[in-house]
Formats: sequence, structure tokens, C-alpha cells
Amino acid sequence: MPHQTPAHRDPRSPLVLDTRDLPRRPGALRVVERSVPAPADLGLELIGVPLGAELDLRLRLESVSEGVLVSGTISGPVSGECGRCLRPISDTLEVTIQELYAYQHSTTDETTDEDEVGRLRGDLIDLEPALRDAVVLALPTNPLCREDCPGLCPECGVPLDELPEGHAHQQLDPRWAALSQMKNSEE
Ligand SMILES: [Zn+2]
Ligand SMILES: [Zn+2]
Repeated sequence: MPHQTPAHRDPRSPLVLDTRDLPRRPGALRVVERSVPAPADLGLELIGVPLGAELDLRLRLESVSEGVLVSGTISGPVSGECGRCLRPISDTLEVTIQELYAYQHSTTDETTDEDEVGRLRGDLIDLEPALRDAVVLALPTNPLCREDCPGLCPECGVPLDELPEGHAHQQLDPRWAALSQMKNSEE
């Protein structure tokens, strides 16, 4: 396994599941429920799970003939910025995971690519890549504070939501603008 990053095999990493107490007998089940801190860069440019935010894992590990099937949900807070008005957004996200992790030297291990089907490393499962994929898929590439966010006033750059209805800037003809300035200074 020359391409492993050591962090991904670290059994103390909160997103690494230890299957030692799951019998390797098809049908054997174990439930994993825990809260873990979110890893860095979990999300997209404008929105994501903040580093260290609490992720709730509710997973079922099931022995199947080729490996361990992990299914369940992971939920946590997301925060970001509205793509139109740039105001902060906070929300919660729940993603569903269903992934097979093949035993080393199983038929699946020998006939599939690691990008298609995950692998157990000894007794360990690294959930992080599957979690990243699920989160990225679930997040909007252009997040909005609300669906019909009107964005910013093109003249003054203030979010239109924060301005009174009918907010507008006087469009003065430059010639009249000069005149009105003269008038203002007289007053
Ligand atoms: Zn907005
Ligand atoms: Zn304005």
C-alpha cells in the first residue's frame, strides 16, 4: 500500500472505524453512534462544515461476504456565504452513506479499483473519503440565503433585503448633476 497517507490509517482518527469486534460472519451487525469533530476543508468554497464542528455519526456496520457494508447518516452544521448578497448562511446538513469496504484479498479487492470500492486496512475503515464525497454532493455550489434572494443593490452594494422597498438611486444626467451641485451649495 504505497499511496496511503498515514493520517488515514491512524486508528485514533475519529473518522476511522475499528471493526475488530464485528464478527466476520455475513449478517453480523454493529451500530456506531458517536460525535466527532469535523476535519478541515469539509465542503466547497462558499459553504461547508466548519473545522472542528460536531458531526453526528449514526451508522450500521454489517458483515457481508466480501467485506463490511457501512450505511447510515452523518449530520452536522454548515456555514457559508450567500452567493448573491454575501451575507452569512448557517444551516444543518444530513448526508446518507452506503459504502462497501472490501476485505483485503477478497474477490472484490482483486477485481475492482480502489476508487470504486473502498478497502479495509486490517480491521480499520477510513470513512473520511466517503464522507467528503457525500458532503460535497449535498452542498449547493451557489448557496443562497433564500431561494429568491435579490442580491445587492448595483449602485451602493448594500443587500437589497436590508434596504427599504423601492430603494433607488437618482439617475441624474451628468449635465444636470453639475447644476444641482451648484444649487445645493447655494442652499
Ligand atoms: Zn442572499
Ligand atoms: Zn443602493
